[in-house]
Amino acid sequence: MRGNEGPVRRVAVIGGGISGLATAHRLTELDPGLSVTLLERADRLGGVLDTHREDGYLFEWGADNFITNVPWGVDLCRRIGLGDQLLETDQQHRGAFVVRNGKLRRIPQGFIVMAPSRVWPVVATPILSPWGKLRMALEFFVRARPDDADESLAEFVIRRFGQETYDRLVQPLIGGIYTGDPRRLSLQATMPRFRDMEKNHGSLIRAIMRQATASSRAERHSSGGRYSMFVAPRDGIASLVQALARRLPAGTVRLGARVAHLAQAADGGWIVQLAEHGEPAETYDAVVVATPAGEAARLLRPLDDQLAEPLSAVHHSGCCIVTLAYRRAQVRHPLDGFGFVVPAIERRRVISGSFASVKYPGRAPEGHTLIRVFIGGALQEELLGLSDQQLVELAARELQELLGIDGPPLLHRLARMPASMPQYYVGHRQRVAAVQARAAAVGGLFLTGNAYHGVGIPFCVHSGEQTAQRVLDYLRQQCAHACDK
Ligand SMILES: Cc1cc2nc3c(=O)[nH]c(=O)nc-3n(C[C@H](O)[C@H](O)[C@H](O)COP(=O)(O)OP(=O)(O)OC[C@H]3O[C@@H](n4cnc5c(N)ncnc54)[C@H](O)[C@@H]3O)c2cc1C
Repeated sequence: MRGNEGPVRRVAVIGGGISGLATAHRLTELDPGLSVTLLERADRLGGVLDTHREDGYLFEWGADNFITNVPWGVDLCRRIGLGDQLLETDQQHRGAFVVRNGKLRRIPQGFIVMAPSRVWPVVATPILSPWGKLRMALEFFVRARPDDADESLAEFVIRRFGQETYDRLVQPLIGGIYTGDPRRLSLQATMPRFRDMEKNHGSLIRAIMRQATASSRAERHSSGGRYSMFVAPRDGIASLVQALARRLPAGTVRLGARVAHLAQAADGGWIVQLAEHGEPAETYDAVVVATPAGEAARLLRPLDDQLAEPLSAVHHSGCCIVTLAYRRAQVRHPLDGFGFVVPAIERRRVISGSFASVKYPGRAPEGHTLIRVFIGGALQEELLGLSDQQLVELAARELQELLGIDGPPLLHRLARMPASMPQYYVGHRQRVAAVQARAAAVGGLFLTGNAYHGVGIPFCVHSGEQTAQRVLDYLRQQCAHACDK
């Protein structure tokens, strides 16, 4: 029912990944009187998040942890009773490796994503040539870019640190995070803090030296990613999905419910048509589209071509994760880090490997180890055309060569993630602003998800929770208009 004569307001959330779940949860948290329906096309919630337990191993299909330097992920976990189940990464092994000429080399301590915070580990690293190191040090004197135009991550890093630091360290680290191509990824949309450092301090090295006293010892002794800032639920990432689902009122979630069409009724309400034959269309006061951008574009094109256009420009790259289990004694490498990344110039066929059972406890039985291998991404998407068997063989072969493994894996599992990681190309922020302005002009339509303001779980949660607040503001406004009449 619509208007102030019908007290129950109805909201449809399309897409039951973490973004849609966080939206639906926040809506019911803020207004228990609201009728919320979460429509998910698959037969389970979570989208790219899923966890499986088998033979004492814990397999993560997509994400295996999330960052805590923004509060939204941890805050939500606390509110839904998971606060005391969050595990920190193992302090002993915080650090990672990069492949150089087929060998794993430790990423210099203090080198986080794009910039060094300590001198000696960089001077001593065999990853860079003497010229590469000198060029990196010269960053201190490179003048800041005067204008505020967006640029690619690759342009930024090469401009400031030189080609070798980009090829050998930054490209593989960023490739590992976004399964993307840094030559196309937007600095503004993915890592704006590095541009802020350049703007405010003239140099990233100078900025980091100034901040060094403030950063923790643990942080300065890790390398690769900011591992001291990551946490994972003890029972895997799916426990976040399950805890959220449990808190939704009965009847909120509808699985196997693929939305085929969206239309706006003459009175401003929303007509949602499911794909199943014979399902009658349902009407809602507001609708939240929490699907990947391509699907949002498909749903909205009949309504507004100019809204669909920038949405369809957000490409989602695909990847595949092969998880392999070994007896610890099979692996000759000490596994004294959280994993490795592979530069594109090494011309191997994997993006990265993550030592899952080293990062967090409880991921493999005693004396065993679990390693996740990432394949595909924006730079090698064609590899997703390989069969499951070929992908598993490829992953096992790469690990054998890189880690020195004797014998085949005890167990393997494969997760295909087609079109799962949105690529924030140069100009992304402007594209999203255009989408938002256009969507705001359509009453009762809201967009949320990983395609807009951040791909990490906490960012999806934040985006979903902010969207929930905007939906409620809209419904209140509608109610106020109706009361005035
Ligand atoms: C391989 C991989 C590893 C990652 N690792 C990390 C990590 O370690 N840490 C981290 O913080 N983040 C990580 N991320 C990012 C993060 O997991 C995702 O950005 C986030 O989970 C996306 O959530 P979402 O709800 O926006 O989208 P999705 O999970 O894609 O959910 C969208 C949902 O919409 C549904 N849907 C689509 N169309 C329709 C329709 N027409 N009708 C109904 N339902 C529909 C889909 O079935 C899906 O369930 C990773 C991502 C990937 C792919």
